[in-house]
Amino acid sequence: PPVELPIHEAVLGRAADFGDQPALIDGTDGTTLTYEQVDRFHRRLAAAFADAGVRKGDVLALHSPNTVAFPTAFYAATRAGASVTTVHPLATPEEFAKQLGDSGARWIVTVSPLLAAARRSAELAGGVREILVCDSAPGHRSLIDLLATTAPEPRVGFDPAEDVAALPYSSGTTGVPKGVMLTHRQIATNLAQLEPAVPAGPGDRILAVLPFFHIYGLTALMNAPLRQGATVVVLPRFDLETFLAAIETHRITNLYVAPPIVLALAKHPAVTRYDLSSLKHVISAAAPLDARLALACSERLGLPPIGQAYGMTELSPGTHVVPLDRLHEAPAGTVGRLIAGTEMRIVSLDDSGKDLGTGERGEILIRGPQVMKGYLGRPDATAALIDADGWVHTGDVGHVDADGWLFVVDRVKELIKYKGYQVAPAELEALLVTHPGIADAAVVGAPDDSGNEIPHAFVVRRPTAGELTENEILLYVAERVAPYKRVRRITFTDTVPRAASGKILRRQLREHA
Ligand code: ATP
Ligand code: MG
Repeated sequence: PPVELPIHEAVLGRAADFGDQPALIDGTDGTTLTYEQVDRFHRRLAAAFADAGVRKGDVLALHSPNTVAFPTAFYAATRAGASVTTVHPLATPEEFAKQLGDSGARWIVTVSPLLAAARRSAELAGGVREILVCDSAPGHRSLIDLLATTAPEPRVGFDPAEDVAALPYSSGTTGVPKGVMLTHRQIATNLAQLEPAVPAGPGDRILAVLPFFHIYGLTALMNAPLRQGATVVVLPRFDLETFLAAIETHRITNLYVAPPIVLALAKHPAVTRYDLSSLKHVISAAAPLDARLALACSERLGLPPIGQAYGMTELSPGTHVVPLDRLHEAPAGTVGRLIAGTEMRIVSLDDSGKDLGTGERGEILIRGPQVMKGYLGRPDATAALIDADGWVHTGDVGHVDADGWLFVVDRVKELIKYKGYQVAPAELEALLVTHPGIADAAVVGAPDDSGNEIPHAFVVRRPTAGELTENEILLYVAERVAPYKRVRRITFTDTVPRAASGKILRRQLREHA
């Protein structure tokens, strides 16, 4: 059944029970907030926000890397009645201004190192009433000043089914990022749906290295662990050595990561220099993860098989996950099973759109209580995603086995059409990185001389593999795939462009193919 609670109640409703247990620890300096503090601070901050003029329905932009204060600011804002739009901390002023304008944000909460960018963005966008900072900065009220308020806690009435709690922007992998309206009920319900499959509680320590501003981090690294009494160790950005050191120092038990981090854990030489024996589970989501890579990672770390989850911003975000107690029985490469209260269909990619059976590849359609309210200000885009019967056309290609395990192949729009065959770039990327001389790879469809689409690979060589040639790589792939899937052209590059959530930005690469 849907959870009819505002998000701050759904997450922090049990905070008092967890009392002086650590809720958040800064992974770099050890600063710790207990559950009692997060509960008290977010209430006081909500009072201060209301006192400053934040009203129900206002949009507040939260512009911050991961910090221990991030959740306090987030739940204070929702308690004051605001909808929170989370912003990439490295967004340019132009990008940030676009989000401010599109979302109609009236308030910004930022951190002092980002204050200049926030000010510039607010100038460009207009309409922002005040910029508050999470630490101290001259001329701006800080959260610390605000906590001293004697203002009363706001008494906001919520309609969890209608009121928008969060307004994250989709990753912009396939087009412009769109503001996704998620109600309190949608987010709270999805947390309750996911919780039985991926429980975490007091004693579990989760490393928040993926950004809170993206829906995956917001759910898996903030809302879900804080709702269950786990401890979240916070890192502001991904740096491999800092990340490994934090696992060792803080005895991290659960990792929620994206495929590039699985790749690093499987292959990077630095990994063996750290004691990672506290780890119990690694879960990957947000982009396709190859089964061989997952196996290499779990074997190297001596862990149960890597689990996966699947979702999208528009689905609050989860629909599938491999339950932690079924990691061993789940088939390799699956993104998991459908969570409770959610329906799925796999339909044909041709115009018929007919329902497909076990093992057949088609588009994944989803219906459930976690489907977004809509894209902000984009009724046409909303109607293109959600059909009249409430089914979300995810744009992802997948298939289901007889036991209900889902496999995600790639995005419909990114399948390469080679001479009438369909080639999934994710499959070729996964194969390429199994080559010992290849550190990273991305594949896109690109026209050849006669205008036919061919698989074009961008390859990052290992520093020690400078002599690896284009022909060797073409041959390596050709020996391992059906002829129509062969990589036809290669460009060597220094890095593969990725979004903060770990997704390959194939759109950018296509411009260079
Ligand atoms: P935009 O919609 O703006 O183009 P985006 O789709 O990348 O960006 P997100 O909502 O962050 O934005 O990502 C959702 C997408 O991520 C899914 O549609 C799917 O393609 C991909 N994805 C998520 N989890 C997995 C997974 N486990 N395996 C494969 N792909 C995944
Ligand atoms: Mg999308």
